[in-house]
Amino acid sequence: MSLHKTVTPENLIRQELLALHAYHVPTSDGMVKLDAMENPYPLPAALREQIAQAVAGAEINRYPDAAARQLKADIRKVVALPSGMEVLLGNGSDEIIQLLALAVAKPDAVLLSVEPSFVMYKMIATFVGMRYVGVPLTRDFSLDLPAMLDTITRERPALVFLAYPNNPTGNLFDAAAIKQIIAATPGLVVVDEAYYAFAKDSFIPQLGQYDNLLVMRTFSKLGMAGLRLGFLAGPTAWLEQLEKLRLPYNVGVLPQVVAASLLTHHDVLLAQAEKIKLERSRLLAALGGIAGVCAYSSEANFILFRVAQATQVFEGLKQRGVLIKNLNGGHPALTDCLRVTVGTPEENGRFIAALQDTINQLA
Ligand code: PMP
Repeated sequence: MSLHKTVTPENLIRQELLALHAYHVPTSDGMVKLDAMENPYPLPAALREQIAQAVAGAEINRYPDAAARQLKADIRKVVALPSGMEVLLGNGSDEIIQLLALAVAKPDAVLLSVEPSFVMYKMIATFVGMRYVGVPLTRDFSLDLPAMLDTITRERPALVFLAYPNNPTGNLFDAAAIKQIIAATPGLVVVDEAYYAFAKDSFIPQLGQYDNLLVMRTFSKLGMAGLRLGFLAGPTAWLEQLEKLRLPYNVGVLPQVVAASLLTHHDVLLAQAEKIKLERSRLLAALGGIAGVCAYSSEANFILFRVAQATQVFEGLKQRGVLIKNLNGGHPALTDCLRVTVGTPEENGRFIAALQDTINQLA
């Protein structure tokens, strides 16, 4: 008699994970790539050379500095952190979202965010077995403060994520409303400033004013998406607990040296962000000039817009060699919505021409 049991993913993997769809990253070879909020500008040649030298000297036979002292010092130089605040590094800010959720995932603990917002908040809640609660934004994508405060009282969330500016809507929420939410929340509130380089405001100066406020940033949108580097800033008492969950070598030798090099030229990256902001206004104006397009203003490096037949428009753009993000079907508030990343003037021009052409053809 055989004692062998059939081991399959279906009978071993947690039910809630079997029900998930993996985060989909489409192929973009040869296309105008305006789907992922990347910085479209390459680095100046002199800076590339400096990075090549830093990489040539890197000791990749050794484990990285687990405390990433140099890189953290460089981050402190470019981000004016209030005194008493610590920094924790992640392999992208996605990893930090996961680490925060893991830290507070007691049975029945709630992760709260708004909808529509960054989809990883909900996905990661599922990964770690937290209960996810999403509070709808208002019709113009602002915070619904009474609904937020009610839900916070009812659900007592352990962790709240607010993307500031929000993805995929591009707007900054009202800062006074966020402060009320922080004050009312019995758990941690993480203000996710992935798009800080393109926005008018930040919660970094508020750190230390509330004992449950943390601010998270990524360098992905600033020109380092390929490095995978994000950080969390906040009071030492929180960060020293979270450090226990961080895998010791989560940021490799190469990202550490390259990011440290790049941060000594933070001004170059910020100047690129300024160019992107200028292009953002031109792109918004161009979208506004196309009949049948309703575009939302943005404090980020992308623009959300609505058209009559979003999926057909998305496919039409793809056939014309332009890849953007189709949000239609993802959330009821995003019906017929598309999101385009601000590219170079040339890329944006190709996108606008392809969009006009597609809409004319569909009419
Ligand atoms: N937060 C928000 C709001 C985002 O839009 C993104 C990327 N789309 C991230 C976090 C994750 O960025 P990364 O993992 O590249 O740091």
